Amino acid sequence: MTLIGVAVSRDSAEIATDTLCYQLNLAAVSEMDKQLILDHVPVVVVRYAQNLFHDLWWPRAGELSLQASTFDEFTRLAEPELRPIHQVLTDYFGKEHGIAATDSTLTAGVVHVGYSHQHQRFKAYGYLSDLGFKRIDLKQPLFVPAHFGLRPSVFERALKDATRGDPRVVGRDQYDERLPEWMRQARFTRPESVDEWIDVACRARDDRVVPGGGITHLVGGQLRLTTLTREGTRSSIIHTFDQDVDDPTHEGFRRCLLEHDHPLAQLSPCPYCDSGRRLVDCCLDADAPCSCGWGNRFADCCSVYAPHRGASTPQIRPPAPDTRQRATL
Ligand SMILES: [Zn+2]
Ligand SMILES: [Zn+2]
Repeated sequence: MTLIGVAVSRDSAEIATDTLCYQLNLAAVSEMDKQLILDHVPVVVVRYAQNLFHDLWWPRAGELSLQASTFDEFTRLAEPELRPIHQVLTDYFGKEHGIAATDSTLTAGVVHVGYSHQHQRFKAYGYLSDLGFKRIDLKQPLFVPAHFGLRPSVFERALKDATRGDPRVVGRDQYDERLPEWMRQARFTRPESVDEWIDVACRARDDRVVPGGGITHLVGGQLRLTTLTREGTRSSIIHTFDQDVDDPTHEGFRRCLLEHDHPLAQLSPCPYCDSGRRLVDCCLDADAPCSCGWGNRFADCCSVYAPHRGASTPQIRPPAPDTRQRATL
């Protein structure tokens, strides 16, 4: 998941993303840039959910951009390839980890932004694996995650629908309860200044980072804002979110980590009973399937005791090399 803000008009397009990146169970938290800016077309490719999909899609999008002299051409070349690339991923997870293609772990999304000569304006097209990568013409400005004063977008609702029935998404009742009222809120409108982009991102983070079951949606790291005009592309970091787990003023982020399998949580007192023992030594079942969705035993996967990882700096593992090669043929 990620923070995405996209607003397009006749003369310009603006794209905002955060840099926080994490596994489903937060056992691994790191940062990455979520905008691939292909300046020669130009087109901006924005990551949404399922990072491994983008590890495959970004190199391919880069190749396709070399064959395209306009955003319209890029779109024509790119659209038929999204689904086959996602298929590579679902095949790999099915074969290696026994994960069903419909599992929400595999939900991927992407937004392509550029100037359409055909429509004589900037365009943003969104695609979600759960909707078969059918083009969603993002005429209205998009912002995910919505703070509680903003109506959740089609992207956000599609992602939540994908997690329906997933036992790993704890407390999604809260999301279902909030939704009717939430849908009555105002639509996101294009921010008029950099400060307004920062404001909407910070409000989203304040509302969503603190645990609320199916409502939780982490935002963090840095905030990048890119502006496309017919004259060129400008991109810069406009804000850095506070997320130092050792800083008491950053309590919201810390509490969020503690409700997941982040190493900090595993090494903290168990929140599920009064034993006073560390969570990893107490109520976490070493033999249960790991909550990250990779299909391994917890003890062999995201546990701080797992032999393949250090106790404090876990990394998301890339797909097997043969998966990458097949995707770029
Ligand atoms: Zn316990
Ligand atoms: Zn795991």
